[in-house]
Amino acid sequence: MSTSGGIGNALREGKKIGCAAVQVFTASPRQWKSKAVTGEMVADLDRARQETGITAVVSHDSYLVNLCAPTEEIRFKSYESLKEELLRCSLLGIPYVVSHMGSAKDQTEEEALRTTGEATRRLLGETPDNVTLLMETTAGQGSSLNYRFEHLATLLELCQGHRRLGVCLDTCHVFAAGYDIRTEEGYELTMIGFDAMVGLDRLKAIHANDSMRPFASKLDRHEHIGKGEIGETAFRCLVNDPRFDDTPILLETNDGETMHAVNLATLRSFRA
Ligand SMILES: [Zn+2]
Repeated sequence: MSTSGGIGNALREGKKIGCAAVQVFTASPRQWKSKAVTGEMVADLDRARQETGITAVVSHDSYLVNLCAPTEEIRFKSYESLKEELLRCSLLGIPYVVSHMGSAKDQTEEEALRTTGEATRRLLGETPDNVTLLMETTAGQGSSLNYRFEHLATLLELCQGHRRLGVCLDTCHVFAAGYDIRTEEGYELTMIGFDAMVGLDRLKAIHANDSMRPFASKLDRHEHIGKGEIGETAFRCLVNDPRFDDTPILLETNDGETMHAVNLATLRSFRA
């Protein structure tokens, strides 16, 4: 939801269309620079939580962040940007920050994972206890890491299973990455695979997006729920899955101002 007119408005606007959970950007996702959190922002978000009853708030970091970027300058900027995001969310009382973490570029995935893991461990050591970093599953577009559950497992291991490191699973991305969730069986196998490799207890948020691009295309293009290559079944499974009763499920589909309400209603209509 947009934070236009103040961060609390993301919750107020979300409430109007029936959201029970909201994802925000606390800073512009396409810039390195960000403004500091003010007491006014903290108070506004607190008021909005009370007014709306929405407490499930998740933040998404800047798209520019690449913890294993090939140049030291970009690695440093990425680290500082993600650290600032975690600090902002700590002040705002936002418990989860979703990040795309890293892209290997010209390195091997093994090298890129090691660099990303080391940066992440340091980052978690330098940030407050009340905010958890969620590694997002990616489509594997370009040279993004984390399109395999094995990558997430490796990063968790490099961080010694840090308790403030979790995962956000994006349905569009895992599908594009080659996890076929189109059928009940495929959905269940994917979740079993995730549980075995990463642990469902690490799964703290879900991005519910259909996919414009085909299975295993490694292309990241979100489509409205039920209108893309994934189709309705996966989303029916998801919203009726008791394992995710308390997990924020967030839409990241296009034309949010008009379509979030529609997609939300679609997801609700799938509830058995
Ligand atoms: Zn996502």
